[in-house]
Amino acid sequence: MAKRIANVIVDSPIREPLDYLVPADLEIQVGQRCLVPLGSRKVIGIVIGFSEESRFSKLREVISRVDDVSPLSSGWLVLTLFSARYYQSGWGQVAIPALPKFFRKLPGKLHERSLERLRKEKKRSVKKSSEKPQLNSEQSAIVEEVQLDGAFYPALIFGITGSGKTEVYLHLMEKVLLRDPEAQVLLMVPEINLTPQLVEKVQSRFPQFEVVSWNSGMAEGQKASSWLACHEGRARILVGTRLSVFASFKSLKLILVDEEHDPSFKSQEGVRYNARDLALKRASIEQIPIVLGSATPSLESYKNALDGKFKLFKLTQRANSNAHLPQLSLVDIRKDKPINGLSQETANAITETINSGRQVIVFLNRRGFAPVVECKNCGWQSTCPHCSTYAVFHKTTGRLTCHYCGWSTPLPKTCPKCGSYELLPIGRGTQRAEEELETRWPEARVSRLDQDSARQRGSASQVLDAVHNGDVDILIGTQIVAKGHDFKNVGLVVVLNTDPQLFSSDYRARERLFSVLMQVSGRAGRDKTEGKVLIQTRYTEDDIFKHLKSQDYEGFAAGELEARRASFMVPFSAQALIVAEGKEISSVLAFLQKLKALAEKIKSPSIRIFEPVPLTVQKVMDIERGQLLIEADSKVEMQKFLNRFQPEALSLKAKGSWYIDVDPLNY
Ligand code: ADP
Ligand code: ZN
Ligand code: ZN
Repeated sequence: MAKRIANVIVDSPIREPLDYLVPADLEIQVGQRCLVPLGSRKVIGIVIGFSEESRFSKLREVISRVDDVSPLSSGWLVLTLFSARYYQSGWGQVAIPALPKFFRKLPGKLHERSLERLRKEKKRSVKKSSEKPQLNSEQSAIVEEVQLDGAFYPALIFGITGSGKTEVYLHLMEKVLLRDPEAQVLLMVPEINLTPQLVEKVQSRFPQFEVVSWNSGMAEGQKASSWLACHEGRARILVGTRLSVFASFKSLKLILVDEEHDPSFKSQEGVRYNARDLALKRASIEQIPIVLGSATPSLESYKNALDGKFKLFKLTQRANSNAHLPQLSLVDIRKDKPINGLSQETANAITETINSGRQVIVFLNRRGFAPVVECKNCGWQSTCPHCSTYAVFHKTTGRLTCHYCGWSTPLPKTCPKCGSYELLPIGRGTQRAEEELETRWPEARVSRLDQDSARQRGSASQVLDAVHNGDVDILIGTQIVAKGHDFKNVGLVVVLNTDPQLFSSDYRARERLFSVLMQVSGRAGRDKTEGKVLIQTRYTEDDIFKHLKSQDYEGFAAGELEARRASFMVPFSAQALIVAEGKEISSVLAFLQKLKALAEKIKSPSIRIFEPVPLTVQKVMDIERGQLLIEADSKVEMQKFLNRFQPEALSLKAKGSWYIDVDPLNY
């Protein structure tokens, strides 16, 4: 009888699957996890196929199956293979880390018992089901029109803030879940602390179904039980962040991507995948509908919709009939000079809003107390010794902290260079603004929400609950305050100091700024009385504000798309970034020059190669970083190029490490 050979992928940069003999008494199928020897170790692999012959002469044997968990589906295997090819990495490097730790670690003695426990994990208790509002005509048109019948159907909902996108998702889910007792739905959300609220909302709408979530903040055991519940079909709804695009389902019938423009869908480590793009791929593999939603769609998705690749739906009204669109005005800080960060007009508006019993949100996109501490005497500045950045002063801890590497030291009492006592915090972060607000409005209840205050599990939800319950008068915070919250009583939103982003060298900076300002403005006026938005700026004549004032995303997007078309930028071209790291910037750049020479040699005319340059933040954790930008006329051309380039580049000797970031979002 012919030998039976299993082709197995493992978590290693090796591109091709490895071959192992299957012992005669071992029953194993494609998609199943197995234990295989690799060098002197034992590792978890996934069987992706069988063959009778092998390129290798001496084969070792599969040790065992891991457990009785059913095989991963062929759709899942195709998705992970596509991801690996597209993002230029090993199949196993995508597939294995996509499993929760429990399913990719070597099984211990109690493995089977733990599995049983995971399967029995008690479901969250469900309060009574929540009422379901009558959809307005724009909303119901979407629910009617989205094709739910066994075909790839990509759609984009462009709906202003508060237009009831969530409600549309819930209705689409309901349709899919009620007509097919096996159907499962994946709802993807950005990486923020919002998932608990949303999960609760979804669960209370569907008390009859098991709803699970999957995000990086969860304990490993929870992740494992959520994963298994989806894999085995018990859970009908998964609410998850970017990694959930790789979740395993028994019968996935619909994907929803909320806030599809959000940069957190792009992974910034390991395999640098974009979960929104992969969700589209997954829907096309599974032949199911996918609905993206945003108040400010990414220009990539918006262009796809304009080009007819996605069905475009619009929600132009606020869904709650009591709600009003906020009135937006600019405060010209060249004239109305801010005192401790706040101009007179802003301060008056805050006082007025609090006095009328409504809440204020102050948005400042910078955490900490002050971005840098400076010596007034000699000019010394607090820099990180390991990175080419400033160390930020955090008053709550009394320390200087680097936001890139986490290095931290107590704030020195005197200047480390000249001994002077005159150390001054320069600039303003959320902690300093919080202090200022507390000083000026001592009666008001001020809360802060940023990555620092949200670090402890649950603390962000506590602050958000307090805002919802009316126990907060002023909420100061970074982007986290901008996202999706359905606050009912916000009368004023204040935006401090976003001017630097108007002139960033990153060509996406304006798109992001517009998006975050729309988001944060959208927190005002969501019920009953009108809401006001004040933006402090010295560039009152900038176009971006004109479009913001009239809530005109489409006008803004048209302008940006035109500018990008004129200069062949994404989405009118495709990019890949090669980032190299090493001890010295000179050798990093020299290596990138070698890659550039190789790229020039094999490139087609539709590829453009730029000069290697240091990264904007050149050094992080004592590692110097440089980049080589490659541009192509299309993603297809880029893939053709990378598929030739990558294997040859791997054979070049590098002193440090390097990686390819396909469709980069950050430079
Ligand atoms: P978005 O996600 O578009 O910002 P939400 O889905 O949060 O908007 O909806 C905003 C508010 O409007 C929520 O309080 C929601 O319950 C309410 N809402 C949504 N649809 C309707 C509707 N058809 N009738 C009444 N209220 C609605
Ligand atoms: Zn000094
Ligand atoms: Zn640092």
